[in-house]
Amino acid sequence: MSGPPPPSSTDSLDQYAKVNRLCSLCSRMCRHACPTHITTRSDACSPVGRALTIELYRGNKTALTEAPVKRLYQCTLCGACKSWCKPSHELPRIIELARERVIQEHRTPAGLLDFDQIVTQHHNVYGEPHRERFKALTLATNQPPSNDTVLYFVGCTTAYRHPEIATAAIQVLNHLGINTHLLQKEVCCGSPLIRAGFTETAQNLAKQNVEAITQSGIRTIITTCPGCARALKLDYPKLNVPLPKSVRVLHITEFLTRSRQMKRLKQHEAPPPVAEIIPVVYHDPCHLGRELGVYEPPRKLLRLIPGIHLVEFQNNRDHADCCGAGGALPKTFPDLAAQIAKRRLKDAFQTTAGMITSSCPNCKQHFLRHSTKTGPLLPVYDLLELLAGVLK
Ligand code: SF4
Ligand code: SF4
Repeated sequence: MSGPPPPSSTDSLDQYAKVNRLCSLCSRMCRHACPTHITTRSDACSPVGRALTIELYRGNKTALTEAPVKRLYQCTLCGACKSWCKPSHELPRIIELARERVIQEHRTPAGLLDFDQIVTQHHNVYGEPHRERFKALTLATNQPPSNDTVLYFVGCTTAYRHPEIATAAIQVLNHLGINTHLLQKEVCCGSPLIRAGFTETAQNLAKQNVEAITQSGIRTIITTCPGCARALKLDYPKLNVPLPKSVRVLHITEFLTRSRQMKRLKQHEAPPPVAEIIPVVYHDPCHLGRELGVYEPPRKLLRLIPGIHLVEFQNNRDHADCCGAGGALPKTFPDLAAQIAKRRLKDAFQTTAGMITSSCPNCKQHFLRHSTKTGPLLPVYDLLELLAGVLK
């Protein structure tokens, strides 16, 4: 049998050999935080279970059978294990690299069989027409780029499934007088493909985006999707397709909490009558929190919104539980993804909140899909919708 083709990422499974070995021998100090272990109660479906699977896979250099492939894909790549791990072992990245090898060995799980072809053909994860990417964005103002223009990288889920988030973002940016540009050649950022192991396809998308961004000459990119921000900022260098050094990538909550914008936003503060104050619980998206370290900017913005009282999940910030939408889990194991969402929604009910908010279109989409099945309906909004609502 010939060996697998050379890896497409700049890092490799072998590079993490020592870390993975330590993980596989660990006393499981992160197991209690793993959403898939909590849900399945299976040791195989835990961080150590996955590290052991990878240890055997790496050593034998043979193709995986169905059960271990399942174990590798029953993971949301939420990073909770890493945040509880004393030496911060990069197990989620190791799992991504193991998935890359699974795909190279043509052992693609059933739920992902045509995923990379769909994205390659349509340039988005939903198989929607590429020409309609910005169709629902009624407020887009595409003035020619100037020195202070920011490029709004919209992303697939916002563009095709939750355009109300983009509309709210553009409303806020217009209100602040920010010259906002959309990248007409924007394609999927590649994040969902990187998580699923389709590194080569992600690399091709990264090349297209980097070329279009470079051509635009714009040096500040903002996103409303933490997955897009993470891909552009942290994953593209690992794919050997970095953005030019002069380009900065910010999640919109980081951009809006820079002092100039905050000053202007604060001018709209007007305390409402006490009876109208709604407790709102903020869910930290895994990519935004644990991967990009953005915890306070969304909270600062929420505190600016009149009529809202910010409350917290018991597990918040770097110990926040995943919503269940990460790591391609809704495609590979939808029931498990649903159970994880319902658990987080139940935790939201344990707070005094009358509404759940987040700053990620995928979290919103996943919570909405499952909120009606959990109990009384808990409204779900992106925080930009709440912010745009008071700036009208
Ligand atoms: S990530 Fe850290 S705590 Fe979790 S199994 Fe690995 S070594 Fe142990
Ligand atoms: S990334 Fe999340 S789901 Fe995957 S092993 Fe770590 S804690 Fe579990």
